[in-house]
Amino acid sequence: MSKPIVAIIGRPNVGKSTLFNRLAKARISIVDDTPGVTRDRIYADVEWLNYKFTMIDTGGIEPESNDIILSQMRRQAEAAIASADVIVFLVDNKTGLTDSDMHVANMLRKSHKPVVLVVNKVDDMQTQTMGIYEFYNLGLGDPIPISAGQPLNLGDMLDAIVEYFPQPTDDEEEDDAIKVAIIGKPNVGKSSLVNKICGEERVIVSEIAGTTRDSVDTEVTIDDQKYVLIDTAGLRKRKKVTEAIEKYSIIRTVAAVERADIVLIMIDANEGITEQDTKIAGIAHEAGKGCIIVVNKWDSIEKNDKTMNAYLKDITNTLAYMQYAPCMFISAMTGQRIGKLFDMIHTIAQNQTLRISTGLLNDVLYEATAMNQPPHDKGKALKILYMTQVSVKPPTFVLFVNDKELMHFSYLRYIENQMREAFGFKGTPIHFIVREKG
Ligand code: GDP
Ligand code: GDP
Repeated sequence: MSKPIVAIIGRPNVGKSTLFNRLAKARISIVDDTPGVTRDRIYADVEWLNYKFTMIDTGGIEPESNDIILSQMRRQAEAAIASADVIVFLVDNKTGLTDSDMHVANMLRKSHKPVVLVVNKVDDMQTQTMGIYEFYNLGLGDPIPISAGQPLNLGDMLDAIVEYFPQPTDDEEEDDAIKVAIIGKPNVGKSSLVNKICGEERVIVSEIAGTTRDSVDTEVTIDDQKYVLIDTAGLRKRKKVTEAIEKYSIIRTVAAVERADIVLIMIDANEGITEQDTKIAGIAHEAGKGCIIVVNKWDSIEKNDKTMNAYLKDITNTLAYMQYAPCMFISAMTGQRIGKLFDMIHTIAQNQTLRISTGLLNDVLYEATAMNQPPHDKGKALKILYMTQVSVKPPTFVLFVNDKELMHFSYLRYIENQMREAFGFKGTPIHFIVREKG
């Protein structure tokens, strides 16, 4: 089951980032923060009670004039309406109701999306709640007063959010289609690839409704294998919205990645790998998805026998934390290696659902620890008692140890390498959970 997406939208300075940081702190993650992945996070995993969701903040942009505020809020709201399962519409108790709040509320109401109306900066629940009543005028139901700064009342807000989460259905997981998201900056060739795939003769294409309104998925069947290309709404129609403001397109990217099994991270061969590419790649990596780095427009560059290696080296250096992800050099225009790309997708889909028996795992572990002794500290050595696989997509392993503190990142990396040598796992991250057993 993919995690629900919750987007926080609202005018500049209402407190979106403050709220986001508050909730993101509560995040419990099985993987350490990845070195090299950007710190200025605008999405995070949040847990509340038994619920897990991905939260996206669209803050951080501060337009000067009111006209710009409104047009940017519109775009922000559109992205949230298209991609999020629940929208948190944040307004400001100190400034009160504004025209742009009204405009956005109209859009939200028409979308029939679940909206939780939250009034921030109610720093004193006794004396400051009077002001919130004017927000009933937005026609979005009961405003929930909070203070992101203090913090106050966040639990009530979270209760209201999770109430809207879609109930998991049984048939969702049985689908044997491989879900593929194509991500990358504007103009790298995402639409061209989708159109090329759908235009191939041996490919059967059908459009299916995405999980959210306004999102369209495309199902293609190639050699009897079904693939779902996620959120192709903006891609297939060639409707060119220039995504001038990256933060809004990130909502769509995070949502698409969340729903995908395999993510194609597309890079433009003419530009090489850029800072923006690494941010986008980080989204797929952190979500634990199968990843392929797809260098597109391979037709358009001058090359000799060294060019591909030079690209590989550059990408490997820049995305050092994603060594598992294969690189493919394609042309969405000529169709070069698109067949191979789908072979690779198919392989990775198998790798990410691989289950290794505990016996076999411990054979590998035994050999690994014999070859390279586990670390020790002040005379006490780390003992890894045994290892067992607990889940797939990505393959996740629990290591039972005598003392968690003794485990080093570098030793974990070593074990990962040994496991990859034994079992491959090409294209998929693998996760480890270290647990103490007395
Ligand atoms: P954003 O632009 O919507 O992301 O807003 P920020 O999170 O950057 O917050 C804008 C300003 O409002 C900052 O100066 C915050 O310190 C302040 N702020 C945020 N939440 C609260 C709150 O609950 N109470 C008060 N009094 N100030 C807050
Ligand atoms: P998107 O914004 O990522 O969906 O990018 P588009 O698919 O709209 O492509 C942007 C531009 O790059 C268009 O002018 C395409 O014709 C061009 N383009 C896309 N793929 C290729 C390719 O493989 N080779 C070349 N030479 N041009 C390409």
